[in-house]
Amino acid sequence: MTELSANPASSVTGPLTSSLGSPLTSTAQSGAANYPGLDDWRQLPISQQPTWTDRGVFDASVKELSVLPPLVFAGEVDILRERLAAAAQGKAFLLQGGDCAETFEDATADKISARVRTILQMAVVLTYGAAMPVIKMGRMAGQFAKPRSSNEETRDGVTLPAYRGDIVNGYDFTPESRAHDASRMLKAYHTSASTLNLIRAFTQGGFADLRLVHLWNKGFTENPAHARYESLARDIDRAIKFMASCGADFEALKRVEFFASHEALLLDYERALTRIDSRTGLPYDTSGHFLWIGERTRELDHAHVDFLSRVRNPIGVKLGPGTSGDDALRLIDKLDPNREPGRLTFITRMGSKNIREKLPAVVEKVTASGAQVLWVTDPMHGNTVTSPNGYKTRNFDDVVDEVRGFFEVHHALGTVPGGLHMEMTGDDVAECLGGADPIDQDAFLDRYESVCDPRLNHMQSLEMAFLVAGALTKR
Ligand code: PEP
Ligand code: MN
Repeated sequence: MTELSANPASSVTGPLTSSLGSPLTSTAQSGAANYPGLDDWRQLPISQQPTWTDRGVFDASVKELSVLPPLVFAGEVDILRERLAAAAQGKAFLLQGGDCAETFEDATADKISARVRTILQMAVVLTYGAAMPVIKMGRMAGQFAKPRSSNEETRDGVTLPAYRGDIVNGYDFTPESRAHDASRMLKAYHTSASTLNLIRAFTQGGFADLRLVHLWNKGFTENPAHARYESLARDIDRAIKFMASCGADFEALKRVEFFASHEALLLDYERALTRIDSRTGLPYDTSGHFLWIGERTRELDHAHVDFLSRVRNPIGVKLGPGTSGDDALRLIDKLDPNREPGRLTFITRMGSKNIREKLPAVVEKVTASGAQVLWVTDPMHGNTVTSPNGYKTRNFDDVVDEVRGFFEVHHALGTVPGGLHMEMTGDDVAECLGGADPIDQDAFLDRYESVCDPRLNHMQSLEMAFLVAGALTKR
């Protein structure tokens, strides 16, 4: 094995990939798109990238990725951009949810169907509450790369590279597993393909039937702990009976649109899956419909913002509590210079304690500039705490409070709270504290499964949907 580079993953000096020199650039361009600017990021500071251990494996993996079929079609990406434009105007609402980090092992039919089912259930409740279409989007079929605060992890005196997501290394705490292995990019591609295939089958083949989803939701409100949501559930029930009486075409409502999204963190992977669309002649990153830039990689003149400024996909940017109005304006100028409806989504994740204080200045500045972005709340990442027994967790009440704060701020400013970004799963895990049928920290010992951040479980996710729907109904 040849050691490629001593570049620490968090280094902002030359990117690892540019240290590989021209062979990489030519392979990356031979099968994938060749379009001006798509490789400019290679000359820019970049953080959170792997330090691959084997150059031959890296070259072969990128070469193969760059000729594999796209995972999504550019036409679907354009449809999503239109849907997001509607959300930015208050005519639709975005629901984006899924794992913090997907794993190869958990890409099973049961887990994927439970997650899709939960998102569909939440969407029905939110559609009723918002009285508008809900755009359904998974943090799924590609959410395999994770930014980390430290390059290393130490357990019982042993220090190994930190887990950076299944696309880079394994979660098991052994030197073999934690080595950065570029062939994992191929496994990530194929796992994304099979996940997306199942999602498409479910959402087109009858699983998304409104009547079925409604029945599942009845199961939720039958739990006495959720009695307080009964009246909203009854209203939805009446609405569906009303539709049936009017002769609504429920067969047509069996199919729903469902979009895939992930954090575009690993730029070698994203670059290799970028293709020129034959219809428009423009580059699309075909690894997913929607891609976002994380809080740790959104520096203006760095690689991630540059690369994503050059693809046609709708782009999200996470904004933490340190974001100024000017930061937001500069991101708009770089990522959405033409002020194109649906192009740019700001996903705010400020924490329940900060949102009411910090969000208004950012929204005001953006609004005053005339730009129309889509505002989405991520009530998860600003509310992470450690439980007394040592688990990374979040309190359901803090998550709810950030969502409330987000709505309050936008209502006060007359702007549009356009969506919800959640870390959630369809399974009965115990990772976040609280909820109407409360999870306590003792349950973590048996049912904490996340390899990264804590997710709302099935019931907590539905409860969140009922709470948000209640808030939207009042609006
Ligand atoms: C994430 O979405 O899992 C994440 C790392 O978020 P952020 O970039 O907002 O910290
Ligand atoms: Mn996370």
